[in-house]
Amino acid sequence: MAQIIDGKAISAQIREEVRIRAEKLKEQGITVTLAVIQVGEDPASSVYVRNKKKACEACGLASLSYELPADTPEEKLLELIRELNERPDVNGILVQLPLPEGMDEEKVLDEIAPEKDVDGFHPMNVGCLSIGKPGFVSCTPAGVIELLHRSGISISGKECVVVGRSNIVGKPMAMLLLRENGTVTVCHSRTKDLPEVTRRADILVVAVGKPKMITAEYVKEGAVVIDVGIHRDPDNHLCGDVDFENVSPKCSAITPVPGGVGPMTIAMLMKNVVESVER
Ligand code: NDP
Repeated sequence: MAQIIDGKAISAQIREEVRIRAEKLKEQGITVTLAVIQVGEDPASSVYVRNKKKACEACGLASLSYELPADTPEEKLLELIRELNERPDVNGILVQLPLPEGMDEEKVLDEIAPEKDVDGFHPMNVGCLSIGKPGFVSCTPAGVIELLHRSGISISGKECVVVGRSNIVGKPMAMLLLRENGTVTVCHSRTKDLPEVTRRADILVVAVGKPKMITAEYVKEGAVVIDVGIHRDPDNHLCGDVDFENVSPKCSAITPVPGGVGPMTIAMLMKNVVESVER
């Protein structure tokens, strides 16, 4: 029987740790504060923003909310970010993606001061990760590492295969596994004979964005499988990039969807916010 990695329980642990750290800072007169900016009214983004604000509240962090209309000029958004960069009472700044069409996402994210970039998307933080310096790390891949550590799964010396090379998941995931001394292979849409490559993995991390694409033929007997994907299946149930029913009998450990990687992303965001002060 595969060990089911319980992201809900592990994320609750991390949030509780953040709450205790935030409480200590409060005793020193510091209220840890996250500024959340949303441009436009994308319904999925509104849900994410609401969840992030709720998580702040539960962890004893303050949140400042900026809801800008979709037709906000880019320069106005950049001005707001510059203002928040300067404010000593704001510790973390988050711009909810995607931005409305016509806005230059890269330019906007680059404007956030690296020391307040709690999403870990700024080129400075990405560079720090790749050369092994401290900095903020993208929350989802950082959450995967926490899941592995806290489930007693060692990474050092293991064959690690990451499917997907996006800037927010695949690439930082690969860098983190390398930092943990894994032997890392990164796959993408041009990879030849994907099942042959993924079957080499002791630890397989899937962030491909295709519902239930990874079936048993992609997985080695006894592998650890981490599923980053989130989708709705035709019956409106949540599912991942991995076909859980088909794959789990073959694994030593696997994350479910929902309840695996998903809850870790916000927990790691909260951790980054509290660390922005402690640094
Ligand atoms: P992207 O669409 O940005 O990246 C997908 C990657 O998969 C690309 O690198 C692409 O390759 C690769 N790919 C696509 N098709 C294939 C294929 N047939 N074979 C091999 N590789 C392929 O997705 P994200 O990284 O942003 O997200 C991945 C998944 O994770 C999504 O389901 C998303 O919803 C979920 N997600 C979940 C989060 C969470 O909190 N749990 C947070 C972020 C994302 P190429 O580069 O060549 O195009």
